Amino acid sequence: MDLIESFSIDHRYIIPGIFESRVDTIGDNSKITTYDIRLKRPNVEPAIDVLGMHSLEHIIATYLRNNPEWKNEIIYWGPMGCLTGFYLILKGNRKPEEIYNLILDAFIEVERYTEVPGATEPNCGNYLLHNLSMAKWYAREFVDYLKKNKDNKLIFEYPKTKRLVTNDGNNFFDS
Ligand SMILES: [Zn+2]
Repeated sequence: MDLIESFSIDHRYIIPGIFESRVDTIGDNSKITTYDIRLKRPNVEPAIDVLGMHSLEHIIATYLRNNPEWKNEIIYWGPMGCLTGFYLILKGNRKPEEIYNLILDAFIEVERYTEVPGATEPNCGNYLLHNLSMAKWYAREFVDYLKKNKDNKLIFEYPKTKRLVTNDGNNFFDS
């Protein structure tokens, strides 16, 4: 079985940032792009607390889908199972740098919430699994990081030099 594309990136070298994970062509030849919005260095720093992660999912999904400039471009926003970041799927194929402000604004926005939107039994599959304070803590941390690294190209590009090697000695090549 082929490894899926995101598994072919060597996760030992991923740093927090905004990366193009994959590009797909759909029906009418238009493109959709999946971005890796990485908050934590995999396997190096602690992953995001699951309650905070769930609250960030709700808040940022709400923000993105209500953003007048972007709402028609958003296909999906959701957490990675490894709890180190999120996937964002957008119509089109913008460079990660072109969504920097969107991501920055989305995480800045978390601070303004006084309750987690949709954290109610009719709206959520686990409505008690939330922690707004933790969500704000992680959001502040990521906002600081993004601001400090605005001009750092490495936060927009997956590590390119290290390739995974299979048991057969073959190199993996990411997209
Ligand atoms: Zn939920």
